[in-house]
Amino acid sequence: MTTTRTTCPYCGVGCGVLAESGAGGGMTVRGDPDHPANLGRLCSKGTALADTLDLDDRLLYPEVAGERVSWETAIETVADGFARTLREHGPGSVAFYVSGQLLTEDYYVANKLMKGCVGTSNIDTNSRLCMSSSVAGHKRAFGTDTVPCSYEDLELADLVVLVGSNTAWCHPVLFQRIQAARKRNPSLRVVNIDPRRTETCEESDLHLPIAPGADTALFNGLLVWLAKNEKIDRTYVDAHTQGHEAALEAAHASCATVATTATRCGLDESDVATFFEWFAQTQKVVTVYSQGVNQSSAGTDKVNAIINCHLLTGRIGNPGMGPFSFTGQPNAMGGREAGGLANMLAAHMDFAPADVERVQRFWNTPVIADKPGLKAVDMFRAVEDGRIKAIWIMATNPAVSMPEAERVRAALEKCPLVVVSDCIGTTDSARYAHVRLPAAAWGEKDGTVTNSERRISRQRAFLPLPGEARPDWRIISDVAARMGFAELFPYTCARDIFVEYASLSGFENNGARDFDISLLSTLDKAGYDALAPVQWPVTADCPQGTARMLTGGRFFTDNKRARFIPITPQGPVNAPDAQFPFVLNTGRVRDQWHTMTRTAKAPRLNAHSPEPFVEIHPDDAAALGVADNGLARLSNAYGSMLARAHFTPGLRRGSVFVPIHWSDQFARNARLGALVNSVNDPYSGQPELKHTPVAVAPYAPRWHGFLLSRRRLDVSATTYSVSIKGDRFWRYELADDTSAQDWPRWARELLCGPQIDAKAEWLDYLDAGQGRYHGARLLARTDGSSALESCVFIAPTPELPPRTWLAGLIARETIDVEARMHLLAGIAPRAQVNNGPMVCACFGVDTGTICRTIRERNLTSVEAIGETLRAGTNCGSCKPALKKLLDETRTGREAA
Ligand code: SF4
Repeated sequence: MTTTRTTCPYCGVGCGVLAESGAGGGMTVRGDPDHPANLGRLCSKGTALADTLDLDDRLLYPEVAGERVSWETAIETVADGFARTLREHGPGSVAFYVSGQLLTEDYYVANKLMKGCVGTSNIDTNSRLCMSSSVAGHKRAFGTDTVPCSYEDLELADLVVLVGSNTAWCHPVLFQRIQAARKRNPSLRVVNIDPRRTETCEESDLHLPIAPGADTALFNGLLVWLAKNEKIDRTYVDAHTQGHEAALEAAHASCATVATTATRCGLDESDVATFFEWFAQTQKVVTVYSQGVNQSSAGTDKVNAIINCHLLTGRIGNPGMGPFSFTGQPNAMGGREAGGLANMLAAHMDFAPADVERVQRFWNTPVIADKPGLKAVDMFRAVEDGRIKAIWIMATNPAVSMPEAERVRAALEKCPLVVVSDCIGTTDSARYAHVRLPAAAWGEKDGTVTNSERRISRQRAFLPLPGEARPDWRIISDVAARMGFAELFPYTCARDIFVEYASLSGFENNGARDFDISLLSTLDKAGYDALAPVQWPVTADCPQGTARMLTGGRFFTDNKRARFIPITPQGPVNAPDAQFPFVLNTGRVRDQWHTMTRTAKAPRLNAHSPEPFVEIHPDDAAALGVADNGLARLSNAYGSMLARAHFTPGLRRGSVFVPIHWSDQFARNARLGALVNSVNDPYSGQPELKHTPVAVAPYAPRWHGFLLSRRRLDVSATTYSVSIKGDRFWRYELADDTSAQDWPRWARELLCGPQIDAKAEWLDYLDAGQGRYHGARLLARTDGSSALESCVFIAPTPELPPRTWLAGLIARETIDVEARMHLLAGIAPRAQVNNGPMVCACFGVDTGTICRTIRERNLTSVEAIGETLRAGTNCGSCKPALKKLLDETRTGREAA
């Protein structure tokens, strides 16, 4: 058994992972008990990492114009294309759009090539969509993008305030840490501020279902209340801050009382008063903010409204307290450190003349960008209007994830040179690429990432590079060399890059800049390979790293004082109206990551939320005629999509929620990005992904259906189709507007292609009058038995047989006589139970089993469910769902 210590490639928690290869070559993963971020825990996504390592859909060879070419030709095509564009149109005509999936070393060389050699800052990262408002808020208040807290502070606090964060699903291991701390310290309270009632609320003491976009009003109200109730830490404010009077004045103008604040926020006055009192009475408060705060046209103001409250009470820089931004991606922090944002230079340096001169002198590059470049939305607008003529997209999928994604697609379609480097070859964005470059994937890459608590961890390779895939840093360096900058990119491995980057962080620093890892600049290859997780800064003064920043009121503004920012609450830019009356909120599901290119490979991760869905309040749905589990169409001026309706009483009326994940790769007509408005925060450039007006209507296709097959099929001709990988089968959910047709023929053509397979045995049930068709294709085996190869069920309504039993038949080697007899009914011979959605992805425990067991065994706790069914005993991600089912089932029983 070989064990490699590495880091999870998904969210910003940055969990340590032990990847173990057995004698048979199979890989397993488990949480690293020695990694300080997770202490051995992993969530459902991390637990399933070993299921995502296959080479299906991988891009393994370089391609130009869709043809496989040598690396030499590919590098030459990219370098010459960028050089020609530069010569003819200048530095502003080229751009890199990069990703929080890149390692810090990749980010560093991409940034050096763009800002130091090409001479433009047109490099921006998809982290712009995720946390750039936190960056802007930190810089306004602290002078630098400094995250003061450690994860340990969540456990040391007596009050954790979660703002715009479904922590239970999006940062599950931190949620588990908070829950474990609550068990140890029953006085630790959790307040959850979120327009939606999410799984996180199941384990919170107070949920404030705030009106969308009203966070600034709430924290302005809190600031006033703290001042009125003499909770100002005068000593701290006088010694270490500036501008608190102006901030209080602005807050007073908007939210002078609890009542005004509650009205502005759409909240119950007594709930607001409770929150204010808890915050005021508790010295150890951590306020966590995430995408619900950041993804807003007032995201930066929201961050500063929160920070203002911590500065006023002096609750920052000490154990158990502080404002704490949770990042979405595994290396969003590394990107903002290395200069992946168009408005940062490198190593947390800006475009101040002294920084520009210093970085150029350190790099010894021929040119240097001396001003910020185009941020993500503006970058794709520049592609659209032709200012940018060559763009290189690295490890990200903007054709799906960018707001107004249809415009982004149209822009890429006409861009003269689009380069995509990615490990996956079938992404929506890769379709627009003239050049496709195969990049190394997780398990093959080597480098570092930084998590939300500033902890730098190593991602280590434990698999060989497949095909001709290469690490991103090497691809970028090869292009740089071909463009004439070989001596500036002499790197032979990730360590060479890391030590240069570490040297830059300490170059002429002397404590003036927060980001300093200069002690690591002397690491040799063995030291880099052995690097243990460490929180920056790492210097001679703090060789073991730094748990907390901004301690003792040491800030990085010109006068070393933190700045209060006066906040005037601004609502979302686009308000709902008669034509588009619903507010579209966006987010994630528990078991998928981004555009699903990797997580959708793991069958167990697809079972929890297999289809794109829209959560809608039942009263709104009733008024519209949308049925629970029926299909709905969401539309606005930007685009439209279809999704399965989920009635959600915990949603505010007038709002709908849709997850971000589905792309053309996995569904048809189900891309959320097509509808999302691209209005931005004026400071951070972060799009308002949480608030877009839309119309919602029932979608009534002529037929609904599903298909189960051992093979992957092309169902893209259907109006609504979703592809779901199961355990030894593919499942397709379908709906279409076409009239009834010759279903047996349709099924044969879809499942066999134009050549009708004479060897296959077909079972058909057709009720043309009712518009129902059930078909099954069986294959004879050499031993005389037969196997179910595929089956299809069509009906005029969504009421179709449950999929679980049929999927189990496909996964089996053979089908027995009894199962054959029941096959076309689609119902199992005996236990005709629809067990509902999967709850525990780790042990495959579904809703029906859990509810039945709670009733039959009279279970009274989540722990008891775990002891009986194992559900929730591995990663723990489903514990909030278990608690909800427990409460609902027991309430139902008591009511009965
Ligand atoms: S919480 Fe889950 S997704 Fe996030 S880093 Fe840990 S294991 Fe990965």
